[in-house]
Amino acid sequence: MLERVRCNLCGADDTTPVAEIDGFHIVRCRQCGLVYVNPRYREELLQEIYTEEYFDHDGIKNGLEFFGYDDYLADEENIKITFAKRLKTIERYARKGRLLDIGCATGFFLDLARSKGWEVVGSEVSSFSGHYARERLGLDVRLGTLKELRFDPQTFDVVTMWDVIEHVVDPMGELREVRRILRDGGLLSLITPDVGSLVARILGSRWEEFRRVREHIYFFSRRTMTEMLRRADFEVLRIESADKVFYLGPAMHRLKYYTWDGMITNAAAKLVYRLGLDKIRININPLTKMTVYARKRG
Ligand SMILES: [Zn+2]
Repeated sequence: MLERVRCNLCGADDTTPVAEIDGFHIVRCRQCGLVYVNPRYREELLQEIYTEEYFDHDGIKNGLEFFGYDDYLADEENIKITFAKRLKTIERYARKGRLLDIGCATGFFLDLARSKGWEVVGSEVSSFSGHYARERLGLDVRLGTLKELRFDPQTFDVVTMWDVIEHVVDPMGELREVRRILRDGGLLSLITPDVGSLVARILGSRWEEFRRVREHIYFFSRRTMTEMLRRADFEVLRIESADKVFYLGPAMHRLKYYTWDGMITNAAAKLVYRLGLDKIRININPLTKMTVYARKRG
């Protein structure tokens, strides 16, 4: 069921422990610094978790505190506000044309990009969310991994991967495949947790992204992400910490995972709901994820 893997960035098999969560070992490569889960579930088992439940469930699943999304669909408006900002930045770096969103989930980003004049295609491994995107939003979404789908070479102007690369079995191979299907000078934009961020370093094994150990198998820092992109023949244009729009209520609930005194944050969360402030929108930059913009080298 479990397999041992070598470092996906440099190929070494030389690690030092970082954290142990729910029986899984998170290690750091001594040669290049890449952080990953080792040993880990085989690929077939990793794929099995992206069911409907992944996008809509209550509380603890499979004994894990953190897993998937509480209710992705109910958060549609906030997700779209966040996506609109990202698309604006993309439009500063890329000419409007054909866009592929890898791991497009229910298609909210594609729907937005299409409304702004982009020609859009999505890929998704979860048949629940892929079908949602197709049937409810009428989007061109293909089911499968990027490698299985074999898109034609040099056919996209932009490829996006929101919170995807940390789930992928072979991220280096994935980036090379992205390079192959991008036009010369095309743009890749991705978001992934930043293991080098101050929050990650302070929280250690309490860091939420580590606790998602069944779905997250790689943890990049700005340095390891830049190095992997360089080796896949991309030039990094910009890296910044990713912000996100939340409702105040759910944001207060999540706060308890980041503090040592759950009583105080629970009481504060209750107060927010009682005062009817839970649906107020706030823009938070938790400084734990990075947004990367990189250009394919010609
Ligand atoms: Zn390495």
